[in-house]
Amino acid sequence: MRRLAPALAASILLAAGAALAGPSSDALPADATSGAAALQREELSNGRAFSIVQSLVDEVGPRLAGSRADRAAVAWALRTMPTLGLSDVHAERAQVTHWERGAEHAEIVAPMKQPLVVAALGGSVGTPPGGLDAPVVEAASLDALRKLDPAAVRGKIVFLNTPMRRTRDGSGYGETVRSRFFGAREAQKLGAVALLLRSVGTDHDRIAHTGAKSRDEHEIPAAALSVPDADLLHRELEENTTVRVRLALGARTLPPAGSANVIGEVPGRERPDEVVVIGAHLDSWDQGGGAIDDGAGVGIALETGRLIAALPRKPRRTVRVVLFANEEHGLEGAKTYARDHAADAARHVAATEADFGGDAVYAVRWLGDPAQRERFVQLARLLAPLGVERQDDPAGAGADVSPLQQLGVPILDLRQDGTRYFDYHHTPNDTLDKIDPPTLAQAAAAFATAVWAAADMDGDFGRVPDDQRKRTHH
Ligand code: ZN
Ligand code: ZN
Repeated sequence: MRRLAPALAASILLAAGAALAGPSSDALPADATSGAAALQREELSNGRAFSIVQSLVDEVGPRLAGSRADRAAVAWALRTMPTLGLSDVHAERAQVTHWERGAEHAEIVAPMKQPLVVAALGGSVGTPPGGLDAPVVEAASLDALRKLDPAAVRGKIVFLNTPMRRTRDGSGYGETVRSRFFGAREAQKLGAVALLLRSVGTDHDRIAHTGAKSRDEHEIPAAALSVPDADLLHRELEENTTVRVRLALGARTLPPAGSANVIGEVPGRERPDEVVVIGAHLDSWDQGGGAIDDGAGVGIALETGRLIAALPRKPRRTVRVVLFANEEHGLEGAKTYARDHAADAARHVAATEADFGGDAVYAVRWLGDPAQRERFVQLARLLAPLGVERQDDPAGAGADVSPLQQLGVPILDLRQDGTRYFDYHHTPNDTLDKIDPPTLAQAAAAFATAVWAAADMDGDFGRVPDDQRKRTHH
């Protein structure tokens, strides 16, 4: 568990006060340090990020793109933003993929009987009515799967058993998620009838982690298995020549549905047509409550807007909060935003996204014109009282702001501790109790500081160099 003890929260408050006497900066206004300290004190003492997440989770619940709850989430955001002091609150229409999970069931039927906990991957097709029953063949990785003899795969269920490493920065996910995304495609090419994937997660609970898969010309049913069930299936395959599984998935894709990006702003006092975007995604998977993914990010983004809107002196530029539609399996909201605002890309001076749960921010990175690095160094200094370190490797953009990065918009990357994130991510256990309010307040304070400083800078970060516009997100 990563929790800020009250004593630690108090020491952050003291540090924020002490930073008043810190070095002055050139790229940032002379009063940036005291302004940042005031924002941080306010969030750590009176923050509302957690109550915002609670409101979303309790009033709307899980909000799979295209569903009725997805539309309820849009309505929630439209009525919540004005209460937080945001201006020009509006929805920008986006068409989204509409997929339904349906009923799902799996069991080992030979050499013994054992029900298995599964969750269809987002976008999976269903099985034939009544399900399918087939022998299982295992592969340890996507590469190992590609090397299998098609004769050994044809007519079988491929079991892709790639364990995930627990890491603070989420790199274990980056290594493993390819199996989830491309596993069914590779299995289908070899003649498999279905894919069972070891859940991309770090827990050992009897829950399965869903998530997006690629959209393919020839689809086969694809589902994640709980980690203990994957371990069992592996042992059965070690000990027996034939292991059969019965799999029944009711998943289906419906016609695309209407959804929206919801936007609210704090207008800039000097250059209101220049914007700093802070994003999060409004949709979630269906199994849990969408609290850490991405209710926490919605709370951080809206709280950033609320804190900055409450300042007696607004930043020079506009702060724009964007709650994106369907990040989870289509990224249609992000793509729609980038398309609709492409002509304005040059007036986007920075973008950031909160989509890594509710745990603490421990580091900050950026991507912009290297000639403007000193501005980032000074911005990063404002985060030090929160225990955030500067990292000098290039930022990775969150998925929703990656289309903006491709247009050259500089990226601020506030890295949250992901050590326990993948215990709950995309599971029925993504619920509000997994968020610790003081820790979420630290994250909100860090995002608010960075966004406020970027919006109030005298100059800007330039543009992302052409050769760095395609970096993938973390
Ligand atoms: Zn997310
Ligand atoms: Zn997600």
